[in-house]
Amino acid sequence: MIDLNRRGLMLAAGSAITVSAVGLPVLAATPERKLGYAIVGLGGYGLGIIIPQFKNCQHSKLVALVSGDPVKAKRVAAEYGVPERSIYNYDNFDSIKDNPDIDVVYVCLPVSMHAEYTIRAAQAGKHVMCEKPMAVSSKECEAMIAACKKAGKKLMIGYRCHFEANNLEARRRARAGDIGKLRYFRSEHGFTAGNPNSWRLKKAMSGGGSLMDIGIYALNAARYMTAEEPIAVYAKETTDRNDPRFREVEDMIEFELEFPSGVIASCMSMYSANQNHILLMGDKGRIDMEPGTRYDGNKLWVGQDRSNLITPPPGPGATQWSGQLDHLSLCVINNKEPIVPGEEGLRDIRIVEAIYRSAREQKRIALT
Ligand code: NAD
Repeated sequence: MIDLNRRGLMLAAGSAITVSAVGLPVLAATPERKLGYAIVGLGGYGLGIIIPQFKNCQHSKLVALVSGDPVKAKRVAAEYGVPERSIYNYDNFDSIKDNPDIDVVYVCLPVSMHAEYTIRAAQAGKHVMCEKPMAVSSKECEAMIAACKKAGKKLMIGYRCHFEANNLEARRRARAGDIGKLRYFRSEHGFTAGNPNSWRLKKAMSGGGSLMDIGIYALNAARYMTAEEPIAVYAKETTDRNDPRFREVEDMIEFELEFPSGVIASCMSMYSANQNHILLMGDKGRIDMEPGTRYDGNKLWVGQDRSNLITPPPGPGATQWSGQLDHLSLCVINNKEPIVPGEEGLRDIRIVEAIYRSAREQKRIALT
């Protein structure tokens, strides 16, 4: 039987339902309705990266803005054709429930605000895309998952690399055995943090330092490249606490992950050096990516060295972000679970907590 409610989502305005010879409703071949997104937080990522991506999407469009800065919101709304009635602030955010144009809320706020806005969005009857890292603690992640489940709404985490062509091709080749039996994974991710007053360097807002923000790319890649879950972690932190940037959060944290197959992942996360690298070593060759997880310019070599530069097949979207946005929209339309649901964000945060504990207690932590 056709679920008319669900299929109804796909109806463009004015499209017709007819009845087939066997009595089942048939949808006329009209373009699918694009799902409407409200972007919460018009900062570097929400405004600078996500909003311009809707033009590359087939199933997603920008319909609303949530910002504490009404002047900025009005300017952005005018630029992107968002009606003024669909501009919200953090106080009247909950009234999004009365706006049927909004299907999905995309949370692009400092990490400490992810749980609150995800839960409020779910309670307003909206699906949620939440940026990485999912939240400041696994407890918050669990509350976010529970709220979306209770509301019957999808929750996806903004792990854009799962939609990035080089990462997808590297993962495919690793799993297809192109470098033989995988033995060792290595990744360094870092950038030079600047302003000591940034929320990223305030523990209450970020939940932690470089590991939460950039090292999480190495952690997540170790999991999606190996297709395994780590069984233990060992970590060591190196931070100059006299540096005004690192009074509250860590600079460098080195962590090793042990996987059930015997693969070891060795990762470095930094806020005091620029690096973006993923290397997989197998008994027959290597998969090397540098940069590996940037917005653009990522490179992939497969073989014994860097002589064989790979041009990957196109990813699912015109860009990694349109692939990511349209994936959630299609999951909503077809009632499927996203490939990077809240549970994926929770898994990373549980490991992040174990990494911090390992560094603090200076011992190997088994993951259960
Ligand atoms: P940002 O500081 O540039 O923007 C944060 C936004 O939140 C701003 O619009 C700010 O006004 C708003 N905000 C609301 N209340 C605030 C408060 N109390 N303090 C500070 N800001 C407040 O940060 P960003 O780089 O846009 O990061 C936002 C989220 O996006 C974070 O979760 C971050 O991890 C994530 N992010 C993801 C990627 C990626 O590649 N997936 C890249 C960058 C950032």
